[in-house]
Amino acid sequence: MSETLWDPADTQPPGTRVRGRLPVPGLPGGIPATRVRGAEPGPALLVTAGVHGGEYCGIEAAIQFANALDPATLRGEVTILALVNRPAFYAKRQYVVPEDGLNLNRVFPGRADGSLAERLAYAVMAVAKTTAHWVDLHSGDLHEALWPFVIYSPDGPAPVAQTARRMAEAYGIPVLVESPALAGGTYQAGTQAGIAAILAESGQMGQLEPAGVARHVAGLQNVCRMLGLIPEPAQAFETTTYTQNLWVRSPRDALQHPQVRVGQAVQAGAPGTILTDEFGEVLDRIAVPHDGRVLFHATSLAINEGDPLFAVVAP
Ligand SMILES: [Zn+2]
Repeated sequence: MSETLWDPADTQPPGTRVRGRLPVPGLPGGIPATRVRGAEPGPALLVTAGVHGGEYCGIEAAIQFANALDPATLRGEVTILALVNRPAFYAKRQYVVPEDGLNLNRVFPGRADGSLAERLAYAVMAVAKTTAHWVDLHSGDLHEALWPFVIYSPDGPAPVAQTARRMAEAYGIPVLVESPALAGGTYQAGTQAGIAAILAESGQMGQLEPAGVARHVAGLQNVCRMLGLIPEPAQAFETTTYTQNLWVRSPRDALQHPQVRVGQAVQAGAPGTILTDEFGEVLDRIAVPHDGRVLFHATSLAINEGDPLFAVVAP
């Protein structure tokens, strides 16, 4: 096993694991990259994590998954970019790339000559386009409580959408969210490029929880079984698909007091969160907009205008 600059000439022999650094112009050290090439040919999978720098369960899971793959038995190849947004990771910043203030998960597919976030996205897309399958790992960031879920787009050519759906079903998380994706997100950019792409969320509030990591690692391994990369039968899971997915955002800067818990069944009109001013006077009582389950809520007392407060999903 060696660590070199990422080799775009692709001279890696079968049955090996190579570590390198994917170059990103203007970012010393680029993105750490591992490619495990199986002894036998087969499908190609990309795993990304750390698009948001404070989502530790995904980052740690991608590293553990990369090291657990066995090149001797693998059929096909897996590329792992475990820490895409290194600047945010070391700056301990939520959501954005510190250099340009952009949310990396809103700028895909990126631009070769853009700001750092756009160049990071562009470098990741160049790798994604060499694969047919893509799993992007996330977790709840520092101020995010969330119910573990897998999200995928129903858009794109039927075989791509069907494969994405099967990957989501194989992940082992019972909550599937079918959504046409926010513009500029990883799985939307993947779908548009003809890649079967899903985004998986496990872990919350910026914590490195063993259960959150293990859920991601097990999910990736079962996706590999389902795709035929790992020559073992895939496990089947019961899942529920949610097609309504509503995110409620704050109308102002305020102090917020969540009134819901993740996974909770809620009805339209129930208390969602309460916003107060800096003296504790109530400014807004924000209600749940429709019946469903709470997918996410912000946990911070501080909230800014436009920040997501909570999300409710329904079948
Ligand atoms: Zn994220």
